[in-house]
Amino acid sequence: MSENDKLEAYRQKRDFAKTSEPSGSDRRKLEVKPRFVVQKHRSKRLHYDLRLEVEGVLKSWAVPKGPSVDTKDKRLAVPTEDHPLAYIDFEGTIPEGEYGAGSVIVWDIGTYENTTKIDEEEVPMAEALEKGHATVFLEGEKLLGGFALTRTGKGKNERWILVKMKDDWAIPDLDILEAEPNSALTERSVEEVGGEEKS
Ligand code: MN
Repeated sequence: MSENDKLEAYRQKRDFAKTSEPSGSDRRKLEVKPRFVVQKHRSKRLHYDLRLEVEGVLKSWAVPKGPSVDTKDKRLAVPTEDHPLAYIDFEGTIPEGEYGAGSVIVWDIGTYENTTKIDEEEVPMAEALEKGHATVFLEGEKLLGGFALTRTGKGKNERWILVKMKDDWAIPDLDILEAEPNSALTERSVEEVGGEEKS
């Protein structure tokens, strides 16, 4: 599937004359580590969007409760449409009446390493996701260390679980969303970006 085809669902939901979100696509050769972003999105309901750069697009999940650095927490991750690479540093407001209306900040951004293995063999990221289990080592401003994504359910009921893996970078009992609420790029809060008073 070409990158443009992968982004069809993304484009169909948006009117780029009205929203300042990117329409895609910028191609990038993967001579460097793939990137990830966690966007904090204040729409009808506050949630976090995890996106991983995989083969020219951002594979995306909405994580209602956001990521956790505590290995005890299992976070539901609902798959959403692939986003263009240019979305990785999108911060701004999506106008009322548009898909995902509200405000978005880059809560965390960085690179990742695909650490998925089956029987000691490295598994390419796209294949790992297709098979329903992937592990990544995140190097963000806030998130660091191993995280696992595991698919549960199929088709319309496809859901994933995001967990912090046990390693030196796990931090028990820390609510990192509360401790570090603002943008990793601009230090703005999602309320400020939305044009509201700072709480
Ligand atoms: Mn979202």
